[in-house]
Amino acid sequence: QWIFLNGEFVTKENAKVSVYDHGFLYGDGVFEGIRVYAGNVFRLREHLVRLYESAKSILLDIPYTFEEMQGHVVETVRRNGLKDAYIRLVVSRGEGNLGLDPRSCKRPNVIIIAEQLALYPKEFYETGMEVVTVATRRNRGDALNPKIKSLNYLNNVLIKIEATLAGVSEALTLNSEGYVAEGSGDNVFLVKRGELFTPPSYVGALEGITRNAIIEIAGNLGYAVHEQPFTRHDVYVADEVFLTGTAAEIIPVVKVDGRVIGTGKPGAHTLRLLAAFKELVVRDGVK
Ligand code: PLP
Repeated sequence: QWIFLNGEFVTKENAKVSVYDHGFLYGDGVFEGIRVYAGNVFRLREHLVRLYESAKSILLDIPYTFEEMQGHVVETVRRNGLKDAYIRLVVSRGEGNLGLDPRSCKRPNVIIIAEQLALYPKEFYETGMEVVTVATRRNRGDALNPKIKSLNYLNNVLIKIEATLAGVSEALTLNSEGYVAEGSGDNVFLVKRGELFTPPSYVGALEGITRNAIIEIAGNLGYAVHEQPFTRHDVYVADEVFLTGTAAEIIPVVKVDGRVIGTGKPGAHTLRLLAAFKELVVRDGVK
């Protein structure tokens, strides 16, 4: 396995950065998770736009142009001979001193890892997944703004831990006003009377690339799609619920906080959108 590290390809054993990297010390940096399907990097441009926007928001200068970065991602996939893979692209503030001031960090570390992905168990896609809502809140407006895909994922880690403690694999979080925001690493959709609903990102959610692909696919299939805030109650009484994310793709949710959703089985609309998504990913990407 070859890992891209600051312009060079090194083995996993040699892919090392300093313990003084502010990414490690303070979670100071940004990242992306990207999928490769049948040799195509899915929506690479969109992922890189989000990466560069996240970096801009935290005043982090990525030491490559957009085009150079695009090339590095594609080359990492090629070097590893992968046709279907998950890519983790990390840009950390870099090595500095123990102070918070990023001016001590002279150069960001850029890391690209491409490997086979361990998805959720197959049965989740066939029988659906159970989730709970948790106490951890997603809030907008500060440095932990969920719209910034920063390395500071402690909120998301806590959401995951809360889910695990509740005996399930994923959870939904609310914002401080009680509107449903997202999962620990996925966006959420409801289907009600044949129409789709997903929270606008200002509620406190990452603007997911998969989410946007589903909005596009659903629109093409003739669905009405509403980006509007909703509460837990709306989730409980939805006909179908599903999560979207680069790693999860589209995953049906059949139980939320003990309430059975719809028939308790993955819904017809969810499965239809999943099929259309699977079809899209193999033809829509960067070679
Ligand atoms: N929400 C969070 C917090 C995430 O980390 C992710 C994963 O990237 C998503 C949502 C889904 O976004 P995407 O579809 O771009 O992977």
